[in-house]
Amino acid sequence: MVGIGWLSQNRVLEWRTRRLPFLERGIQASPKKISEAMRLFAAWARQAGLRPSTTEYVARTAARERLQFSKSAESAIEAAWRTHWVSSKLTEAERARVEAKAQKPPELVASEARHPDWRCHRCGGTGAFLVMEPPGPACLPCAGLGHLVMVPAGDALLTRRARAASKLTAVLVRWSRTRKRYERIGALVEPTALAAARTRIEHEEQP
Ligand SMILES: [Zn+2]
Repeated sequence: MVGIGWLSQNRVLEWRTRRLPFLERGIQASPKKISEAMRLFAAWARQAGLRPSTTEYVARTAARERLQFSKSAESAIEAAWRTHWVSSKLTEAERARVEAKAQKPPELVASEARHPDWRCHRCGGTGAFLVMEPPGPACLPCAGLGHLVMVPAGDALLTRRARAASKLTAVLVRWSRTRKRYERIGALVEPTALAAARTRIEHEEQP
């Protein structure tokens, strides 16, 4: 749907963070057109010899709720959406790797507050960053991310090391008004993980 221009990445992110109740609401086509496209796609995939593989889609929220695709949530429609089509040329090991990657839960997302007077729907507080939850924005402590610290984007090695050492991480994004999309500005990691990553890199830089 993204590839054919019926669905924008922004809508996908809204769905992943549960601001859209179901994915089809974000698609720029009638329900009839969507089901026709889904039918044609599955027919093409079968004809091309691709193998179906069912994938779970969970929300980018701390609760990791299962995501809904269609308004009716009918099981056959949901199953069609959750089906990935994998090349039959892959070896069993390659196929297992592709499937494991697809099953990996998506990262949590926190975004920079766009309005300075926003209020957390749980505690009434505010802050520089928020996490979108279905009833509204939540502050980082209420979203269970209050103990994390920011690693600004730009230092790829530090970010990678700190994220690898952190049990809980989140991606930090900012809405770009000029580009009309979210941009990654950094990551949230556990302070101990950031300190460990810094120490490790300093040691490696010693001659
Ligand atoms: Zn709060």
